[in-house]
Amino acid sequence: MAVRNLPGARLPIERNRNACTNAMKRILTRALVMGLLTMIHPALASGQNAALQQARRARVDSLLAAMTLEEKVGQMTQLTVGVFAAQGSPQHDSIRLDPARLRRGIVERHIGSILNVMGGALSVESWHRAIGEIQGVAMRETRLGIPVIYGIDFVHGANYTRGGTLFPHNLGMAATFDTALARRAGEVTADEAYASGIPWNFAPVLDLGRQPLWPRMYETFGEDPYLATVMGRANLVGMQASGRVAATLKHYLGYGVPRSGRDRAPAYMTVREVREIHLPPFAAAVRAGARAVMVNSGEIDGEPLHASRYWLTDVLRGELGFDGVIVTDWADITYLNTRHQVAATEKEAVRMAILAGVDMSMTPDNYRFVDQLLALVREGAIPESRIDQSVRRILTLKAELGLFDHPTPDPAAVARFATPQAAALARRAALESITLLKNDSAVLPLRKEARILVTGPAANSLTALNGGWTYSWQGADAAQLPQGPRTLLEAMLRRGRDVRYVGGAGFNDSIDVAAAARAARDADVAVIAIGEDAYAETPGNIDDLTLPEPQLRLVEAVAATGTPTVLVLVEGRPRVIGRVADRAKGVVMAYWPGMHGGEAIADVLFGDHNPGGKLPFTYPRAPNALITYDHAPNEGLTPTGGPGGFSPQWPFGAGLSYTTFAYANLRLGSKEVAPGGSLPVSVTVTNTGKRAGSETVLLFTRQRYASIRPPVRRLRAFQKVALQPGESRTVEFRLSTDDLRFVGRDGRPVLEPGTFDVMVAGLTATFDVTAVPAPARTSAARTGSPGRRH
Ligand code: BGC
Repeated sequence: MAVRNLPGARLPIERNRNACTNAMKRILTRALVMGLLTMIHPALASGQNAALQQARRARVDSLLAAMTLEEKVGQMTQLTVGVFAAQGSPQHDSIRLDPARLRRGIVERHIGSILNVMGGALSVESWHRAIGEIQGVAMRETRLGIPVIYGIDFVHGANYTRGGTLFPHNLGMAATFDTALARRAGEVTADEAYASGIPWNFAPVLDLGRQPLWPRMYETFGEDPYLATVMGRANLVGMQASGRVAATLKHYLGYGVPRSGRDRAPAYMTVREVREIHLPPFAAAVRAGARAVMVNSGEIDGEPLHASRYWLTDVLRGELGFDGVIVTDWADITYLNTRHQVAATEKEAVRMAILAGVDMSMTPDNYRFVDQLLALVREGAIPESRIDQSVRRILTLKAELGLFDHPTPDPAAVARFATPQAAALARRAALESITLLKNDSAVLPLRKEARILVTGPAANSLTALNGGWTYSWQGADAAQLPQGPRTLLEAMLRRGRDVRYVGGAGFNDSIDVAAAARAARDADVAVIAIGEDAYAETPGNIDDLTLPEPQLRLVEAVAATGTPTVLVLVEGRPRVIGRVADRAKGVVMAYWPGMHGGEAIADVLFGDHNPGGKLPFTYPRAPNALITYDHAPNEGLTPTGGPGGFSPQWPFGAGLSYTTFAYANLRLGSKEVAPGGSLPVSVTVTNTGKRAGSETVLLFTRQRYASIRPPVRRLRAFQKVALQPGESRTVEFRLSTDDLRFVGRDGRPVLEPGTFDVMVAGLTATFDVTAVPAPARTSAARTGSPGRRH
C-alpha cells in the first residue's frame, strides 16, 4: 500500500475535527498502524535479520511520506509530563492527567515524546495508567497513530518508580571495577523501566568526574577515561540487551569539567584534550550500539554543544557513525539565546541547534519550539530534508523498541520488577563499591561486642545513602522514601551488642557536638558518618570543597577524647577532610551506595564483608589541589621544584582490604613490540593475609618521551581476582599498541615509537615500541577513519 497516495494524507489536523476527518483518520490509522503491526518488531535485540530491518525502513519511509510538516516537527518535540497533569493532580505516587491537555499536545501539536515525573516517583500501577492514557490518545486519536516515546532518568536503578531497585550511583559502581556487575545493573534497570512501561532511559552518564566541585561527579564512572569507557559500555550493553529499552549516552561532550566547578558552566579545552580524554567513553558506547545521545548543557571553549555542528554532526555522526537520536538537555535550545547568548532570538537558537544536528528538543514545557521550527522550515531557513532526517531517526527508534506493536505497558513485565535477585545484586554492588581508605592499628573490623558510638549526619539518613535522583529530582524528600530499608545506624543496631547513637551534627549545622564527645568517652570506638545529603545538578553547586565546618568540629571533638575513630564518608564527591583525616584511625568511603547502603556499610564495618572497592578518582587533600592521577609531570612538583609534590589525600585506585596482597614477577612477553602488535604482561598476586579477599589489579603505562607531553601514567587494563588466604594467581593481560596511542596535535591518534613503562602496584617493567610496523596488520589499518580514537 502506497501510503503517500492516500487522500487527505497531508491534510493538517483541525483543532475541532469533524466526523469526516475522524473517519479519514481512522482509516489512515488502521492502514498505517496495521501495516506496522505486522512488519515492525523490536530490533535492538541481537540476531535481528536484514529483512526485518529492511521492512522497518520501508514502513518508516511510508509513514514519513504521509506526515505533514506539523506532524514531523511535533515528533521532534519532547515535553515534561507536568504539562499534561490535571489541576490539583497529585505530585507523586500517582498522577492525574488532563485529557484536554493531552489532546492539545499529542493530537493538535503532534508531540513525539514525554519525559520525567512531577514531584516524585510513581507506583508501577500509576505509570501503567498514565502511559496507557498517553498512548491511548496517540494511537486512537491521532491521524497516523504514532506512539509517544516516554523517557526517564533511571540513573541508579529504577529511581522514579516506587519500590524500584536502587543501585549505588555510578561513582560507587566504578569503585567495584566489575564490568559484569555494571552490565547486570543495566539489565535490571532496563527490566524495571520496561516493567514501569517506560522504553527510554536517559542513562548512562559517560561524563568524566575530573572536577570534584561539579555537583554531578557522583553520576560519573570517575576520573579515568578507560574505566569510564569499560564500565559505561558494560552498563549500556546491559541496559539495551532486551531490545525493549533504549539507553542514552549523556551528556555529550565535556560536561564534567566546568572550569568553575559549577553545573552547566563552560569547560575550556583544546579539541585534542576533548578527543584524548572525554570522547573515548562515548565512542565505545556508540560502537556498542547506543540508540540515543543527550547533549551537554555547557560549552567547550565558548561554543555551546547544542550549537556545535562540529561535535554533533561532524564528529558524532561522521566520525563515530552514530545513527540514533540526539536529544537536547532541559530547555537547552532556549538557553542558547538566554544563557549562552550565541543566538539573538529563541528562533535563531532553534535554527542553530537543528542545523548543528539536534533531532529532538526537550523544550520541556512549551510549544514555542514547534512554532519556531515550523516557521523556519516555511521560510526556507531549514530544509525539510533536514527535518526528515531527524524524524526518520525518531520513528526508527520507536519502531526498534516495538512501540508500534506494543505501545502500552506490558502487565506481564511486572513480574521482573524489584525481584529478590535484583535486590541481592544491588546489595552486592553496594558491598563491592565500599572502599577502605585507612585502617590504622586494624581498628576495623569492629568487634560485635564492642561499645560503639555512632554519630554524624549521615548515620541515620536514608536520603544521604541514596543521593540525588531518588524518588524526587533532588532526592532529599525523606518522606517519599519507602519504609523498610535501613539506615547505617539501624543496620549497626542489628549487628552490634552495644551500639549507641548521638546525632552530633547536621550536614551544615551543629547540633550536640559536646554530647557526642561525652558519649565517645564511654565508647571503645566511635563511628562518625559524615559527608553530604542528597542533591542533584545546579542546586548542588558549592564554592568550597571542604567538608562543612560543623562536621569537621564533630570529628575533632570526638577524636580529642582519644577514643579510636572511624570515619564513614557518605558523599557524592570528595569533600576535603585534610584537617581531620589524620585524627581518624579508620576511613571508609561509601559514595552514595543506594538503598542497600546501610546494610552494606555495616557489613564492612563489622567484617561480615571484606572490602575490595578501589577509589575511581583522586581524593584531594586541599580544596585547590584538584589534580588527577594522570597529570603532567610538572603538576607533581614540590615548591622547590623537585618531584614528589603530588600528594592527594588518597590516590586513584586506593583501597585496602582486611587481608593483604603482595605483587611479584611483573613479566613482559617481549622487550620490544612493533606498531600493530601486542604485548603479553603478567603479574603474580598473592593473598598474604588470613582472610579471603578480592583485589583489583591495575595496569598503568607511561611513555617516557613523546611529541605531546606524556602524562605520568594512564590506566590501560584491570582485572579483579578473588583469592583465598595463601593463594597466588598469575594475572595475564595483553597490551595492544593501540592502547598506547595518544591524540596528536592534529587531532588524530598516533603511536610514537619509544620506551614505555608498565606499572602494576609497586612494580615496573620496561619495553620499547619499535619504529617498524608489525608485518601484516599496520596500525593505520586497525584504527579506522582519521581522527577516530576508538
Ligand atoms: C539533566 C539531564 C536529564 C534531564 C531530564 C536535565 O536537567 O541535565 O541529565 O536527563 O534533565 O530530566
